[in-house]
Amino acid sequence: MPIDDPTTATPSDIDVELARLDIENGKAESTLRGLRKRHRSLLEDGMTEYAAELEPRIEQARQTIAECETAARPLEAEFERRGGWTRAWLVLNTGGHVHRTPQCRTCFATTQFAWLTQLSGHDETEIVDLAGKAACTECYPSAPVEVRNRPSRIKTPEQLAREAEKAERAKAKAAKAITAPDGTPLRTTKYGQIDTEFTARRNYADALSYARHLARVNVAYHRDSIAEHHEDARLILAALAAKHGRTEDDLRAELAPKVESRWNREYSNWR
Ligand SMILES: [Zn+2]
Repeated sequence: MPIDDPTTATPSDIDVELARLDIENGKAESTLRGLRKRHRSLLEDGMTEYAAELEPRIEQARQTIAECETAARPLEAEFERRGGWTRAWLVLNTGGHVHRTPQCRTCFATTQFAWLTQLSGHDETEIVDLAGKAACTECYPSAPVEVRNRPSRIKTPEQLAREAEKAERAKAKAAKAITAPDGTPLRTTKYGQIDTEFTARRNYADALSYARHLARVNVAYHRDSIAEHHEDARLILAALAAKHGRTEDDLRAELAPKVESRWNREYSNWR
């Protein structure tokens, strides 16, 4: 997300945007290198027309690079203005270490890093505490031994994003789900196991309107079935009340129009 006012943004906000610009810039640089190489070899082969066709794309890549640099400048200036802040990088291989700078002398020019932008501006003790045994001894020489013996709890921004997405999906699923008040599956006689609130509400309306239909046809003959439908409706109502922390009376009143319209639509004309 582009930052409107760097002076009020958090170190993390700024570094997230700088990391994004850096990746976009890197992609454009590699595109530009590839295009230039092809352009050159086409010219060498005397295929000037084909070479000319590549030129708008070369220009586009150049422009992207320039735009990334322009966007990064005020953010880097803000880092300087505040006298810098803590930053951390994780080396992307098994057992990779956490460093306070990618220029750490234990790393190489080819080392691949994940920039841990979520930790930008955080206390170094917190970073070391999360890194545990993954903390680079060169970058964090003062980390206590007991911290160094702990396993790493560091996550990359990508891992955190995936976890947040997963939690969001679980939350959405839970919002749609229904169980019996004690958390066990909601089991009914006539409708089987009911897993979603949507189905629960529909079955509640059906159970009551169908019981009413049976009662009109022949109460004595359908006595058992009527009782079972009423019992199912009662179970569903209790489940809905427990889920929403509302009283059964309250929900019964809310669902009454649904029962009525179900009755009108499905059963009122039957004889
Ligand atoms: Zn280091």
